[in-house]
Amino acid sequence: MMTTLTIALSKGRIFDETLPLLAAAGVVPAEDPERSRKLILGTNRADTRIVLVRATDVPTYVQYGAADLGIAGKDVLAEHGGEGLYQPLDLGIARCRMMVAVRAGFDYDAAVRRGARIKVATKYVGTAREHFASKGMHVDLIKLYGSMELAPLVGLADAIVDLVSTGSTLKANDLVAVEHIADISARLVVNQAALKLKHERVQPLIEAFGRASRADAATQASQAGKRRARS
Ligand code: ATP
Ligand code: MG
Repeated sequence: MMTTLTIALSKGRIFDETLPLLAAAGVVPAEDPERSRKLILGTNRADTRIVLVRATDVPTYVQYGAADLGIAGKDVLAEHGGEGLYQPLDLGIARCRMMVAVRAGFDYDAAVRRGARIKVATKYVGTAREHFASKGMHVDLIKLYGSMELAPLVGLADAIVDLVSTGSTLKANDLVAVEHIADISARLVVNQAALKLKHERVQPLIEAFGRASRADAATQASQAGKRRARS
């Protein structure tokens, strides 16, 4: 009997950065999700398929076993809580930082010192609540679903909690990062039942992903070393 393996991925950067890892595990999607409207993609392997879901929904599909495994950012996993998920690998892809940012003119440190009650807009309500609670700050959290950068510009909030990679979006909107909350990268997540029941299918994939992401990290480290040596 053939056991089908279902992998949940989100379109965009997670999909793109996962392709080399999948290839290293011998899995090649049959279609480019940017050119197709299909939500279920076949692969070169008859027993392996990919389901395309929103980034925030990946942990939910895997938790309930609708997908056996998936790839999700730590940002998404922190909000989800990780219930029912085995997280064997940090893949080191889709790297960015979770930051607090404010308008360039807003004196965040002074507001913190004064114990001011600031308004914070974010998609990451759980992460933000935990961060400000750990600093003993009282904040009003405003839940948004995207384009957080707009909120301080139109007076919806004093600050945002958002992902930052190059900082160019903040800069373009006259915002500055004032606090680092966490380094973010994507993790492999596996349904706990699938890990046991489909072990002979899941384990080789975990191992191939692990080897490929470690090789990738080693290449990046040596390139960074060469850059340092040149400069
Ligand atoms: P949607 O676009 O469907 O609203 P999303 O914004 O969460 O969802 P992406 O922008 O593709 O989707 O982000 C997917 C994941 O990639 C995030 O959960 C995060 O882990 C990571 N990520 C987000 N922004 C960046 C970034 N600027 N640089 C690197 N990784 C990022
Ligand atoms: Mg996005």
